[in-house]
Amino acid sequence: MAQNEDLDVLIVGAGLSGIGAGYYLQRDCPGKSYVILENRDAIGGTWDLFRYPGIRSDSDMFTLGYAFKPWTQSKAIADGPSIKKYVNETADEYGIRQHIRFKHRVVRTAWSSDTQRWTVEAEHEGQVKTFTAKFVLMAAGYYNYEQGYQPEFKGSDQFKGTLIHPQHWPEGLNYAGKRVVIIGSGATAVTLVPAMTDKAAHVTMLQRSPTYMVSMPSEDALANWMRRRLPASWAYNLTRARKVLFQQFFFRLARNRPEKTKERLLGLIREQLGPDYDMQTHFTPRYNPWEQRLCLVPDNDMFAAIKSGKASVVTDTIETFTEKGIKLASGKELEADIIVTATGLNMRMLGGSDVFVDGVKVDTGKSYAYKGTMLSDVPNMAFVFGYTNASWTLRADLICEYVCRLVNYLDMYGLASATPRMGDTVHDDRPFADFSSGYFQRANHLLPKQTTKAPWKQNQSYGHDMMDLRFGAIEDGVLQFTRATPEQAAARAAVGSLAREAIAAE
Ligand SMILES: Cc1cc2nc3c(=O)[nH]c(=O)nc-3n(C[C@H](O)[C@H](O)[C@H](O)COP(=O)(O)OP(=O)(O)OC[C@H]3O[C@@H](n4cnc5c(N)ncnc54)[C@H](O)[C@@H]3O)c2cc1C
Repeated sequence: MAQNEDLDVLIVGAGLSGIGAGYYLQRDCPGKSYVILENRDAIGGTWDLFRYPGIRSDSDMFTLGYAFKPWTQSKAIADGPSIKKYVNETADEYGIRQHIRFKHRVVRTAWSSDTQRWTVEAEHEGQVKTFTAKFVLMAAGYYNYEQGYQPEFKGSDQFKGTLIHPQHWPEGLNYAGKRVVIIGSGATAVTLVPAMTDKAAHVTMLQRSPTYMVSMPSEDALANWMRRRLPASWAYNLTRARKVLFQQFFFRLARNRPEKTKERLLGLIREQLGPDYDMQTHFTPRYNPWEQRLCLVPDNDMFAAIKSGKASVVTDTIETFTEKGIKLASGKELEADIIVTATGLNMRMLGGSDVFVDGVKVDTGKSYAYKGTMLSDVPNMAFVFGYTNASWTLRADLICEYVCRLVNYLDMYGLASATPRMGDTVHDDRPFADFSSGYFQRANHLLPKQTTKAPWKQNQSYGHDMMDLRFGAIEDGVLQFTRATPEQAAARAAVGSLAREAIAAE
């Protein structure tokens, strides 16, 4: 085992959230030491991993971008490489890159009440490296990077063509003139269908059931107009505020008046596809709007691909794969050269690291989420989980600000740890997110629970979270604090000075 490094804050993950966390720590906790451990050899997380044709955001960059760094490009719906570039630029502009240790996969994170410290073990080039830290921020995303979700399809080994999962896209795949079938109806399928019609002979989206979709221009004319006339940060902040208000308004409307919202959403698609299109079968979901994430269709691109005849939608159930393609329950057979299983992600908490508190393994599925960012009975640890009904970064930004406030609070009062405790309160358990999407359903046993009362309730509301995480009192009677004993303080100082000596010797 390699030497120990002792830190004030250890961040896991150098995606959008981890880089944002670096920025907030530098801004709000200057002088605090921090390191970002990143499993990959690059910054960007999701936006580095996914390489399929057309990869793009499905929310606007005014809210997926950071509060502190204006998105200055004309496209509001950005492609993956542009988002990756934006995150990299942020890391360089604020000197965050030098804090990142690439190719460090965190596998074990253990809290000791004796030392009031986390010990974090990371695999690095065949070695286990150990770090100790007062606070750990898990910015490790929400899904398994190694393996996407792929249901068992009967007969899939018989298929003679190419079978691909979008999470593992083969570099340089040639699909020119090929018949492509994309299984799925989520954001990835809706991105891939129009993107692959550029070269494919035909693209079929095969779905078991439809998803709600809404079109939006990829460029926001008002935002671009403001950007040309106002300082970048003013234009960005005004557009960001407008987008947040619109997202929240639309979400509440969908939840409060589902029938009206449904009618309007379907009406907009009908306008694109014409009165003869079978809307009932292919575009009318079985659930109400915003019970699952709404799929964005920029500039009506998917509807244009369907209208042109280059793409089509089939709503049916797969009976079996065959040598030539897929046999459906209706008896129909879809022939394909390439099948893409856009069937989703495998959700994962805390970057897949095993987490222990005083030797007892933490079961995230049995924990409760405090303010949507800490786990009940787990001291000095926060995790970033973005909104399901709005852009991820809106919440990531607020969580990072809250973590900085908490770290400063511990410092200011000479405290060693803060632990959210539920105590004996009687509560009404709810799943982490009020969402019926398959990936949430599959991961229910991993996700921390929520209740119907603050601070254990998830509000999915930016306005509410801003008041709570940015301005709310740290001391709320739920978060419990401990003070370091003189022995603990001495033990910690010893670890710290050993680490300093080791670093100096490097
Ligand atoms: C295809 C796709 C499109 C999306 N589009 C949108 C969108 O338009 N809008 C939106 O709001 N959200 C979107 N999301 C959700 C998206 O993941 C978030 O917006 C955002 O990118 C998450 O950033 P993150 O840094 O929290 O996580 P990630 O991007 O997942 O980054 C996590 C990082 O942590 C690292 N890591 C994980 N585990 C460990 C470990 N044990 N040790 C060390 N490092 C580790 C990973 O290597 C990775 O670099 C999309 C997701 C996908 C998959």
